[in-house]
Amino acid sequence: MKPDKALECLRAGNRRFVSGETTSVINRTPDGETPLPLHRQRAALVNTQSPVAVVLGCSDSRVPPELIFDLGLGELFVVRVAGNVAGPTQVETVEFAVAVMKVPLVVVMGHSGCVAVGTALSTPDGDDPAVLATVVAAIRAEVAPFQASHPGLEGEALARRAVQVNARGAARGLLRDSADIAGRVATGRVRVLGAEYDLETGVVEYFDVD
Ligand SMILES: [Zn+2]
Repeated sequence: MKPDKALECLRAGNRRFVSGETTSVINRTPDGETPLPLHRQRAALVNTQSPVAVVLGCSDSRVPPELIFDLGLGELFVVRVAGNVAGPTQVETVEFAVAVMKVPLVVVMGHSGCVAVGTALSTPDGDDPAVLATVVAAIRAEVAPFQASHPGLEGEALARRAVQVNARGAARGLLRDSADIAGRVATGRVRVLGAEYDLETGVVEYFDVD
């Protein structure tokens, strides 16, 4: 599958999720017709899987990628960590998905109301938060320069921009820290996008990361 077709799968699934017309109990076979409930999808996937995309997303309980994109078993390769940061184990896992499983699309997805990003914004330089210290340090590395260069932004407006800045930074981290991912992007086999999920509307917006 080409990256753009994979992106269209995500867009279509998110539209179903937003409108309440979810179909994830139905396996969308190539003919688009054959209904397959989850228990039968499970049986069909014992020895195979071909996920259409990797999602590096936040662990927040309100942001489960399979539900947001209305996809069934075997359709999404998901990496979740607080604040959707790209540390070494996340980079390796995404690399595995694109190199071994030939997944054509990587989406780094932040979300509105992200507690990890909010903590990073409110933690002064040099301080460690009580929890999520490594995650917050990674987010601060992305958002602190942005915060410093946009002194007029604050409150909700700053938080929303910081979510995007953090997702873009993690996506760039994947390209910086994995020559394999970067090489596949350079040849057009893989596309890496940032995204932001809105807790209120359920809508996912995408953005380029270069
Ligand atoms: Zn979050």
